[in-house]
Amino acid sequence: MTQHNILVVEDETSIASFVAAYLKNAGYTVRTAATSQTALTQVATEMPALIVLDLNLPDGDGVELCRRIRKSSDVPMLMLTARDEDVDKIIGLEVGADDYMTKPFNPRELVARVKSVLRRAAPDRRRSETAELSHGDLVINAGKREVYVGDEEIRLAPKEFELLWELLDHRGIVLTRDQLLERVWGYTFAGDTRTVDVHVRQIRRKLGDASPIVTVWGVGYKVASERTPTAAG
Ligand code: CA
Repeated sequence: MTQHNILVVEDETSIASFVAAYLKNAGYTVRTAATSQTALTQVATEMPALIVLDLNLPDGDGVELCRRIRKSSDVPMLMLTARDEDVDKIIGLEVGADDYMTKPFNPRELVARVKSVLRRAAPDRRRSETAELSHGDLVINAGKREVYVGDEEIRLAPKEFELLWELLDHRGIVLTRDQLLERVWGYTFAGDTRTVDVHVRQIRRKLGDASPIVTVWGVGYKVASERTPTAAG
């Protein structure tokens, strides 16, 4: 998995470094900017995968910055605001933020939101790059959302489809139930991991012997790597 580069735009150094530390700990590369001007330069040069953006900046407000960034980029943005009233502003002005959090916030929740926004942003890119994944007789097409076993089309519910895609897309890697919950259902700490089990059971029932999903006891699920005869190296 590629390491996402995140830009944190926040003039309060303590908050910026606090947020940066949590994001780094979650495996992201983090840059910070304390002013709108620095942020605009960073967006142009670094092309971050996501921007965490404070609404109140010394040289102009975050809403304006958000608008300016939107003119040239569709990078996901998560807004930080000090007051609940600002939420109306963020949403009402349709500045194009993908999510927001009100200070003070739980940094773990911020990390979860970041992951969720990135996850929601990812499918389009992913689907244009890899429209189709296959495993033995199983072929799944992300663009058309079709699943075939040989010539037979199999109807999967949306979450079953996404779960299967996620596992196939990470073949050879064990994904825990929590990781799958997060990637397929969005951020959650509640962790009703049985949801994952139920969906896996449905996929297996529908795909029968063609199901590529392997249970890794005590850990989660994976799709075994497939030896591709054409792979030369
Ligand atoms: Ca601020």
